[in-house]
Amino acid sequence: MKYDYLIVGSGLFGATCANLLNKKGKKVLVIDRRNHIGGNIYTENIEGINVHKYGAHIFHTDYKDVWDYVNSFVVFNRYTNSPIARIGNEVYNLPFNMNTFSKIWEDVFTPEDALRHIEEEKKEITGEPKNLEEQAISLVGRTIYEKLIKGYTEKQWNRDCKDLPAFIIKRLPVRLTYDNNYFNDKYQGVPIGGYTKLIEKMLEGIEVRLNTNFFDDREELSSLANKIIYTGPIDEYFNYSLGELEWRSLKFDTKVFDKVNYQGNAVVNYTGKEVDYTRVIEHKHFEFDTTSPKTVVTFEYPSDYKDGMEKYYTVNDVKNNELANKYKELASKEENVIFGGRLAEYKYYDMDDVIKSAFNTIEGLE
Ligand code: FAD
Ligand code: UDP
Repeated sequence: MKYDYLIVGSGLFGATCANLLNKKGKKVLVIDRRNHIGGNIYTENIEGINVHKYGAHIFHTDYKDVWDYVNSFVVFNRYTNSPIARIGNEVYNLPFNMNTFSKIWEDVFTPEDALRHIEEEKKEITGEPKNLEEQAISLVGRTIYEKLIKGYTEKQWNRDCKDLPAFIIKRLPVRLTYDNNYFNDKYQGVPIGGYTKLIEKMLEGIEVRLNTNFFDDREELSSLANKIIYTGPIDEYFNYSLGELEWRSLKFDTKVFDKVNYQGNAVVNYTGKEVDYTRVIEHKHFEFDTTSPKTVVTFEYPSDYKDGMEKYYTVNDVKNNELANKYKELASKEENVIFGGRLAEYKYYDMDDVIKSAFNTIEGLE
């Protein structure tokens, strides 16, 4: 065998495994069907600005070992995500915090004032919230649900909030302090110079073949290594033999504007149905760039997944979770193949959890 490991996919899961195995002295080959490394965290320099090509990525974690690990490759800046929500002609702070509450209800100045409104509005929900709508109303009340959650969520998932699982909204903090930080984690930032630099450093000294689809040459590629780490879609690996898993996709419309500052913030959410996009990203603000004369802005449109598109979000409803579990059964019987990452585990993973899972995977190998 020429290699100890063939790693299918150069995203964060594949790159972390490749880096750790290389450090252990294993011989590794990484392949990716795209024409670049990094998977969905890939950034590309346009007009001197690092553009997040597959959507805004903010690194945030509570794991000290993961934070130390990524910082051993690149320096992270102090970026803290504080999105703005726009609906009609109104602007609100996110996540839901005292700044939001005091603007929604004009008699709110203290946490007690905010709680009074929320408690009053959530009375309509009795018992455990059964779906996303009930969960949202019981967290922040109906006024905020209708202005800042319903439209955004229904655009994002193309489903009624009554038909969506409650857990999706539980990701967002609700705070009774004047704190616009979108995340609760201890560590947060964006790599100076972009995420591609992080992956480049992780893959230093490792052979990488781009534009190489595992399925175009499955036998030949498999014969090169003792073991395979597969990070592509799990149903595709089994040739969709049990049926196709469902995904949500996104369309990104990126424009260069001849102005220094387009929207004054990296992330602006459009929470109403008057526009079809959910988010507008102005990439220069991830790196506090206020000097370059141009700016790169991406409009993000949610979309049903169709052939030829990228698979971005898992649809973790009962039907899809059951199908994913059946595929995981098959995967566990596959000798010398390890399945990991967002696509192969059919899991709504943040970057830090993907790295942590790769740590655990490699630790478990001899
Ligand atoms: P991927 O990045 O998808 O990598 C898989 C790689 O495998 C790809 O490069 C693909 O081309 C390759 N591949 C697949 N099949 C084959 C094949 N047959 N042959 C060869 N190569 C193949 N997380 C955060 O922590 N913070 C954020 O702010 C954040 N924002 C996000 C925004 C969006 C819009 C999305 C979609 C995700 C976001 N995430 C965020 C999650 C983050 O993107 C993922 O956790 C991470 O990128 C997953 O890495 P991965 O290696 O599992 O998958
Ligand atoms: N959400 C919302 N309004 C917003 C932002 C988010 O209602 O302005 C809801 C929406 O249901 C979304 C979920 O919160 O799917 C999780 O948001 P997050 O920003 O974590 O989405 P992701 O990073 O996964 O795209």
